[in-house]
Amino acid sequence: MHEIVSANPDWADANLGELFVIAECTCGCQSVIFEEPPFVQNPKFLGRQAIVGEIDIHFRVDDKDDWMLVLLHFTDGKLTYLEVVWYNFPEPVPKNWTEINRIVRTAR
Ligand SMILES: [Zn+2]
Repeated sequence: MHEIVSANPDWADANLGELFVIAECTCGCQSVIFEEPPFVQNPKFLGRQAIVGEIDIHFRVDDKDDWMLVLLHFTDGKLTYLEVVWYNFPEPVPKNWTEINRIVRTAR
């Protein structure tokens, strides 16, 4: 997550404060929702809703290559949730894997 934030020049210097996870998706994808912070983390994005960025993770589990996408969302200048897109749903997200590489893309 910090990887996404620091890769986006519009967010790299934002004051995130402490982030608390208040809910986790029940489908097993490991997406999480953050508690609404008491202040606006990035006033540049007041009134807007989008993603800060995303990470494509390419990994290997049991001799099989796989991909996972992680997206960091914000609403009104505040981080809202981290979404994990698991392409093999409804298979469970693997607990262990060997990472091959990752690509960080930001919304800018
Ligand atoms: Zn889910």
